[in-house]
Amino acid sequence: MTTMTIARVPAANAPFEITEVEIPEPGPGQVRVRVRACGVCHSDSLTVAGAMGNDFPRAPGHEVAGEIDALGEGVTAWRAGQRVGVGWFGGCDFTCDSCRRGDFIACENGLVAGIAYDGGYADYMIAPAEALVGIPDDLSDVDAAPLLCAGVTTFNALRTSVARPGDLVAVLGVGGLGHLGIQYAVKMGFETVAIARGTEKEPLARELGAHHYIDSTSADVAEELTGLGGASVVLATVTVPDAMTPALGGLRPRGQLVVVGASADPMQVPPFALIPGSTAIQGHASGTSKDSEDALRFSVLTGVRPTIETMPLKDAQAAYDKMMAGDARFRMVLTTGD
Ligand SMILES: [Zn+2]
Ligand SMILES: [Zn+2]
Repeated sequence: MTTMTIARVPAANAPFEITEVEIPEPGPGQVRVRVRACGVCHSDSLTVAGAMGNDFPRAPGHEVAGEIDALGEGVTAWRAGQRVGVGWFGGCDFTCDSCRRGDFIACENGLVAGIAYDGGYADYMIAPAEALVGIPDDLSDVDAAPLLCAGVTTFNALRTSVARPGDLVAVLGVGGLGHLGIQYAVKMGFETVAIARGTEKEPLARELGAHHYIDSTSADVAEELTGLGGASVVLATVTVPDAMTPALGGLRPRGQLVVVGASADPMQVPPFALIPGSTAIQGHASGTSKDSEDALRFSVLTGVRPTIETMPLKDAQAAYDKMMAGDARFRMVLTTGD
């Protein structure tokens, strides 16, 4: 067998084409991954639109779990058959100023799987060795996949924030990122508040461990958080800036609104919302492959798992459409090899 199935976008904003192509060969420093599962992330829409300047045709997919199928020249730290993942961090140049400072996620020439090269919407993909994430034995491929973007993003945002064990932490949005953010916040020892629109998501938020729930349509979020003592951190996982800013008033002094919900829309904030409490709005970029490995190990250790719905690769369009419509509960995962 020398061909494989790939679900790729033939042109900007065009529907997916499911087609057969030659199985690619890994070059120097690269490996070929036999993909078993790939999460469908809202950021895949960047690939579909070509918003980050990707070529077409292009297969999205930066929540990839599978195993190493072939090693390129010079790859010595990994072996064939090893279970690995590939996340948003898809490689770096090791030579720019950020890399020379050890800040690989900020690499000026950083590669994103599914944008710089074909991602995990395929039977096989090629990835640079530095993008690989070891997957623990106790984690299935379909569970590991969403943790490689949605998981590491929320895990890493929380562990690098100003919040310390016992602090009040709010997670804004109970969706693909939020349902993981709530679990991580609880397991990291934060008094955890889930915030969402309406009451529909309250039972789930509580099931995930949230100690408090705020319905943002009927309550004043800032007032509620202040009533609970003020939040050290509000982790904003929604993609609507206007839904983020009301939480600013609920931060305790020196607290942070940590933004991981990716949106190109402007955020309007009166400077007075930040000055009295010396509060901050902090963006957070995912994490490196080693951060992802930490997220996977922490998830095994504490029982954090994504809530997923699987679909076969040939149904990539349906899975993507369902995610974009906000109907995924809570992460769509494509599977291959059936
Ligand atoms: Zn993602
Ligand atoms: Zn670099």
